[in-house]
Amino acid sequence: MSGLEAVIGLEIHVQLATRTKMFCGCELSFGDHANVHTCPICLAHPGTLPVTNERAVIYGLRIAAALGCEVAPRSIFHRKNYFYPDSPKAYQISQYDFPLAGPGELGGIRVHRAHLEEDAAKLIHVGESGRIHGSGASLVDFNRGGTPLVEIVTEPDLRSAAEAREWAQLLRATLRQLDVSNVNMEEGSLRVDANVSVRPEGSGELGTKSELKNMNSFRFLERGIEAELERQRELIAAGEEVQQETLHFDPSDGSLTPLRSKEYSHDYRYFPEPDLVPMVPTEEMLEEARRDLPEPPAARRERYVSELGVSEGAAATLAFEPAYGEYFERAMGAPGGGSAAATAIWVTGELVGSLRQADAEEEPLASKATPEAVRALAGLVEEKKISNGAGKQVLAALVAEGGDPAAIVERDGLGQISGSGELEAIVDRAIEAEPEAADEVRKGNPKAIGRIVGAVMKESKGRADGDGVQKLILERLGQG
Ligand code: ADP
Ligand code: MG
Ligand code: ZN
Repeated sequence: MSGLEAVIGLEIHVQLATRTKMFCGCELSFGDHANVHTCPICLAHPGTLPVTNERAVIYGLRIAAALGCEVAPRSIFHRKNYFYPDSPKAYQISQYDFPLAGPGELGGIRVHRAHLEEDAAKLIHVGESGRIHGSGASLVDFNRGGTPLVEIVTEPDLRSAAEAREWAQLLRATLRQLDVSNVNMEEGSLRVDANVSVRPEGSGELGTKSELKNMNSFRFLERGIEAELERQRELIAAGEEVQQETLHFDPSDGSLTPLRSKEYSHDYRYFPEPDLVPMVPTEEMLEEARRDLPEPPAARRERYVSELGVSEGAAATLAFEPAYGEYFERAMGAPGGGSAAATAIWVTGELVGSLRQADAEEEPLASKATPEAVRALAGLVEEKKISNGAGKQVLAALVAEGGDPAAIVERDGLGQISGSGELEAIVDRAIEAEPEAADEVRKGNPKAIGRIVGAVMKESKGRADGDGVQKLILERLGQG
């Protein structure tokens, strides 16, 4: 059904990469033996008291700064009460009506708030579950319990599944530069929940939303939202209503399964945590949080496009992939070579591709192809000293063995042939080899030229300039 617009808001949990947990001295660990990083505090033994991890607060403030959020001069921890085996206390220490940071904005999407909380323990389900007589069991690993989290909540400003995915990628790129989290969706250090609803186009009201939980890749996030939007549109087309509920998306078959009917905040009986003092960031903490904040990816992308003339796609890759951004910056610091636009295309296209293919380390700066060399290569192609195809061969050589592009061109005889007698001879041979195609072209059917161009490229090993070759063939066949 058309006429129904998508409305999406995201809730993102970011695991902070501090040394210790949010409220105790236990070390954070990934992949260690279960239940070795625990203590009476994170296991909720009676009589123990939590102490706020200052580093986690500074990391939270750093995230707030990067999202342009207002920092609360005083924020408060609350107990969010619930009963489930992943919480030995039967509540989570979180923030409620006085969060660490208030409204902000990233890439045109409004951030509602960002607050600090602790992660739950990890449940591991083994055997056959869901049956009283089954062999199944749920194991609890308390290593994760008490890990510091920042929860970021957006306003419902996103209007399509693709936009939600792109924004989540922008957020990850922004967070990654801050060095406060591993921001890895597969490993769960970045967890994105999507709130999804539809409404008549042009309506100012919000429809009833459902919430999709924990999709563990950007692709699944987009596909899950896509599937849920379709489900809601079909419901409404059938005259039914969307229920407020929490859904699990299964990427293997695209299904959406209800996890539980949605709880409301009053279900959690929030009350202020009596064992913790309010959080009042000092001037020194704020300063440390803001120190050396890197240029935000959104600003960098914008600058590359508007100031350097880089294409949108290449600018996004350079801005969102710090390693390639750094590589590009170094290339542009080289004394000469291609323009920024051309260099960006070589870095984000051919270099990314061949590094992935080489299945070596994907780190571009560790590659044998230096930034200076790739920029010089971009210049050779731009000045038409070599063809685009020859440029690809030079890049492959740079990745394989390093060196200087001009020297590789010289050594491998990759210099452009155009307008010379050599090219004319090759064109004539190609016309002879493809007599039927040549006749077609003579009769005025220019599409047939492809086969002749192909023959020229093959014989010249990609050293000829494609446009020049086309023109020459047409001339030779009396169509020029
Ligand atoms: P809840 O009380 O269910 O947690 P909130 O108002 O706190 O709801 O919003 C949680 C998230 O859901 C936010 O990201 C918000 O932007 C988003 N959201 C709220 N209402 C809607 C809606 N009708 N459609 C889509 N997203 C929504
Ligand atoms: Mg919520
Ligand atoms: Zn502990």
